[in-house]
Amino acid sequence: MSKVKFYKGNDIPLELHKVRVVQKLNLVPIERRLEAMKEAGFNTFRLSTKDVFLDMLTDSGTNAMSDNQLAAMMRADDAYAGSQSFERLQKAVLDVLGKKYLLPVHQGRAAENVICRTFVKPGHVVPMNYHFTTTLAHIQECGGRVVELLYDHALELKSDHPFKGNMNLEKLEQTIQEVGVENIPFIRMEASTNLIGGQPFSLANLMDVRRIADKYNIMLVLDASLLGENAYLIQQREEKWKENSMAEILKMMTGLADLVYFSARKLSSSRGGGICTNQHALYEEMEDKIPLFEGFLTYGGISVREIEAMTVGLYETLDETMICQSPNYIKYLVEELEKRGVPMVTPPGVLGAHINAMKFCEHIPQDQYPAGALAAALYICSGVRAMERGTMSSVRDENGKEILADVELLRMAVPRRVFTLSQINYVIDRVVWLYENRHLIGGLKFVYEPKVLRFFMGGLEPTSNWAHRLMEKFREDFGDSL
Ligand SMILES: *Cc1c(COP(=O)(O)O)cnc(C)c1O
Repeated sequence: MSKVKFYKGNDIPLELHKVRVVQKLNLVPIERRLEAMKEAGFNTFRLSTKDVFLDMLTDSGTNAMSDNQLAAMMRADDAYAGSQSFERLQKAVLDVLGKKYLLPVHQGRAAENVICRTFVKPGHVVPMNYHFTTTLAHIQECGGRVVELLYDHALELKSDHPFKGNMNLEKLEQTIQEVGVENIPFIRMEASTNLIGGQPFSLANLMDVRRIADKYNIMLVLDASLLGENAYLIQQREEKWKENSMAEILKMMTGLADLVYFSARKLSSSRGGGICTNQHALYEEMEDKIPLFEGFLTYGGISVREIEAMTVGLYETLDETMICQSPNYIKYLVEELEKRGVPMVTPPGVLGAHINAMKFCEHIPQDQYPAGALAAALYICSGVRAMERGTMSSVRDENGKEILADVELLRMAVPRRVFTLSQINYVIDRVVWLYENRHLIGGLKFVYEPKVLRFFMGGLEPTSNWAHRLMEKFREDFGDSL
C-alpha cells in the first residue's frame, strides 16, 4: 500500500485487502439522533449501536479479522490443559516477539495486574513515558506511584515532532537518582502512547532507555499493545531503519525489554493478552498468579478460538500492508481536516485522529467539558460516535473541585480494516460543517456523576438549548438529508 505512488502527489490510502463479510449499519435521521443523545445523557458511551452509524469510540476489540484468522478459529483445540492452540501461540510469540516464555491472560489490564502484584510494593515508583488508565490504576492499587517522563514538546498538540512518545532521558536518570534504584521495580515504555494521541517512540530512544536500565540494573517492561503501529512509524519516520522489515524492527524493540506484555484486543485479534520474557526466573515469579486470577497456564481465561486468532494476528503484524491501513487512514483524516482549518493533533499518530477540542470549542469553559460537548455535537450532526478524552474523563479533588485535564481531545478511533474511504470522507464533511457552526455548540453539566470512572456511565445535560439549535441549523443546510 505505501509503495503505490499516485499521479501528482494525489495521495490516496490504498488498501491491499478486499471486503468479504459485511455488517449492515444504520444511519438514523437527526431527530432520532438528538433523541438518542438525550436518552444517553449526552455521553457517547451510553449510546446503543442501533443508533450509531460509524463507531469510532475505540480500537479495542473492534479491529476487523482476516479470513485466515476466522479459518484458524475453527481448528481450535478445546483441551483444558496442554492445548495445541496454546502451543501454536507460544510459537508465534517466539517467532514474532522473540520471547520463549508466555503467560496468557484474558486482556491487557490482567497482564498489568499480574506484573504489578509481582513486582510493585508500597512506596515504589515506576518511571514511564506516559501512563495508560489501567496501568496507573494497577500500580496505585499495589501502593506504587507513577512518574511520567515525556519531553516538553510531547504535550504540544500541533507539532511536527515524529516521536512525541520518547522518554526524557535526562529526567529518567534524575528520577533514578532521586528515588533510588531500590525503589524502582521497573521502567515502563508504552508503544504508541495511547493517551497523548497514539504517538510513537523511536528505536534510538528505546535503546537509550535500555542503556540507562543496564547502568542501574533496573528491569525494562514494554507495553506492546500498540506495538505494530509503533514499529511501522519507526520504519516510516526513523531514517536509520527505513530499509528494515517489520519483523526486524519488532524483534529489535522486544529484544530491548526484559518483559513484554500486551492487550491482544489491540495487537492481534479481538480478545486476550499475554506477558512474555526470555528470563525463566521472571516467568517463575509470575507463574502462580495465572491459575489464581486468569485460568490454567495454557489458556489464561482466553477462549481457545481467540488463541488461534491471536496466533494468526501476531504473524499478520509482520505484514506492513496490513499494519499500515489504520495509520494511513488516520494520516489522511488528520491532513484533510487540517487543510480545512480544523485544529487537529499533529503529527498524525495511531489508533485514531484527535481533535483539539479546547480550540475547536474555544467559547466553552473547561469545566463545561468542551471535548464531551463536541462528542455529543458530532454524533448529533453525523451519527459518528467518538470518545471524549479530557476533563470529563478526569476526576474531582477532595473538595469537589474539577481537576482540569492537561488537554481536551476528541478521539475518532479508526480500527484496523473496518471503514471505507468514503466513510472517512463523510466524517471529514460533517466535522468541517460542525467546525463552521461551532459557535452553536454549548457546554454540558453532570446530572448523574458516579464516583469512580464517571465518564463511562455518567449522565449530563446541555447548559442551554444548544443541541436543538444545532439540529435546526443542520435541517436548514441539509434539508431532509440523513
Ligand atoms: C488498551 C490498553 C491496555 C489495557 O488493555 P485491555 O485489553 O483493554 O485491558 C494497556 N495498555 C495500553 C497501551 C492499551 O492501549
